[in-house]
Amino acid sequence: MDKRGVARTLRAISSLYALGHDEEKLALQYKKAADTIRRLPVHVQLGIDELQKQFHFEEPIRQTIELLLTKGRKAALLALPIDVPLSLLEIMELPGFGPKLTGRLYRTLHICSLRDLEIALNNGKIQFARILPESQLQQLPMEIYKLRQRNRAISIPTGREVAAVTIEHLHRTYPHLLRIEMTGSLRRMCPISTTIELLASWDGDTETLAQLQMNGFSIQHDTRTTNQMIESEFTAVTLTKEVEHDDRTFPLTVHLVSPESFALAWVLTTGDDAHAKFVHNRLNIDPQKQVASLRAQHEEEVYQLIDHPYLLPEMREQWGLHQEARKLLQEGQIKGDLHMHSRDSDGADPIEAMVQRCIEKGYTYLAITDHSQSLDIAHGLTVDRLLRQREEIAALREKYPQITILHGTEVDILADATLDFDDLILASLDFVVASIHTAMTQSANELTARLLYAIESPHVDIIGHPTGRMLGHRESYSVDFDRIFAAAEHNHIALELNCNPNRLDLDPIWLRQAMESHCLFAVDSDAHSVRDLERLTLYGSAIGRKGLLTPERVINTWELSHLLQWLATS
Ligand SMILES: [Zn+2]
Ligand SMILES: [Zn+2]
Repeated sequence: MDKRGVARTLRAISSLYALGHDEEKLALQYKKAADTIRRLPVHVQLGIDELQKQFHFEEPIRQTIELLLTKGRKAALLALPIDVPLSLLEIMELPGFGPKLTGRLYRTLHICSLRDLEIALNNGKIQFARILPESQLQQLPMEIYKLRQRNRAISIPTGREVAAVTIEHLHRTYPHLLRIEMTGSLRRMCPISTTIELLASWDGDTETLAQLQMNGFSIQHDTRTTNQMIESEFTAVTLTKEVEHDDRTFPLTVHLVSPESFALAWVLTTGDDAHAKFVHNRLNIDPQKQVASLRAQHEEEVYQLIDHPYLLPEMREQWGLHQEARKLLQEGQIKGDLHMHSRDSDGADPIEAMVQRCIEKGYTYLAITDHSQSLDIAHGLTVDRLLRQREEIAALREKYPQITILHGTEVDILADATLDFDDLILASLDFVVASIHTAMTQSANELTARLLYAIESPHVDIIGHPTGRMLGHRESYSVDFDRIFAAAEHNHIALELNCNPNRLDLDPIWLRQAMESHCLFAVDSDAHSVRDLERLTLYGSAIGRKGLLTPERVINTWELSHLLQWLATS
């Protein structure tokens, strides 16, 4: 478990203790411990002995942290000597539901979980008890729905990890499953999936099917694989089950098909419904092609049969039909990374290590963009520290002449719609990313005004993670995208595709819209460690293609001279 996870769980435990009547001291201790862990620089290794030496946590907290680090969240929570149900934590994730209100609901109406809360809302028990103000009551069904959506969201790396572990397990347990691959929304790189979907070829052994059912799989009907197909030839069975991984339950879907029809089934199960329908319709035109598709050796062959250029997995959605991937952003076209953090703010590694890795990756330029002074939590740089960093970068430029190091900042767009460094400082930097990190609950009007102010600043080059979402934790804030895109285009400001897999912000839907508004883009890693630099390689071009980005609109595909010219004039 990482720093964020430990801090989050300690905070949750503090809330649980705050529910009781005489546990205030423990509640406070856990809250303080959560803040301590949250403020640790990223490069501090989370080991219980080192933490104890430094912070001398009280015994129950020490034990909790040790359990979190060795056995995970569930084990740590179950070991707590508390007498309230752990499911109350679900309720406290709703906005406005602190320990006081949740405790009252629990004691007066015996509401222990999100489900209980929903039932009490439906049968009028809550309304009758007059515990919640009218406005909160009205919002509640929507808030419960949104929370459920957030809890179901599976990010790409998490989903792929669960898929890999599951594939290995299936191979070991069921020798009659021959080839097993990831498919569905995970394969087409959707920023959020809600199911882990796998495709397996199977030799038809009926005992395997019985075994799978004995082990908790149930048989489902899936229209994408059976709809309008010659069912006798295309022996498809779809099975579902819930799997546990890292303290979390994931819905798993496995499609079993005959080895001959694997390629066709992979095409059909990877894409969305519109894509599957499109393929079916084209095949239905010609019975001979239909039969041939069931014997296709490779996915490419299926696309040849339907007279459509091969579609990369990430493009197999309604908007991707009839698109030509070769005109879109390609991995090899990226020439540099323009958003990353070093140990000077909240990164894990020194600038030099970041530079060395960028050289190894074959980049011709990079920008160091540590946080600005107000962002305490991320050890934002004061003007003095920024100037010292400038000297360090000057020395590194001498040492590594093979790459151009731009000295930049990720300047905070403050709550009052001003920037966190004054114009003089910003003008002295090579590169400026401007982002919102605070006051994200402001109204759409206020947030739009903040972004517009940054876009209109003569010193800002990129708007970082423009909608602020954190998959599974925080939704995108609502802003007036038409105005943002128009202003970005008018002021020649690039909008970011932030490749942190928990952000992937802008989402492909907005990227496609911003493309239509003729905006420029920067596809960045927002790396906080050397390892994070790989995000750009892992997600940048695929998500960029999902957003229909073309290379000429992505500023970090440009030659250095072009980029510098743009920086000088934009
Ligand atoms: Zn940021
Ligand atoms: Zn950043």
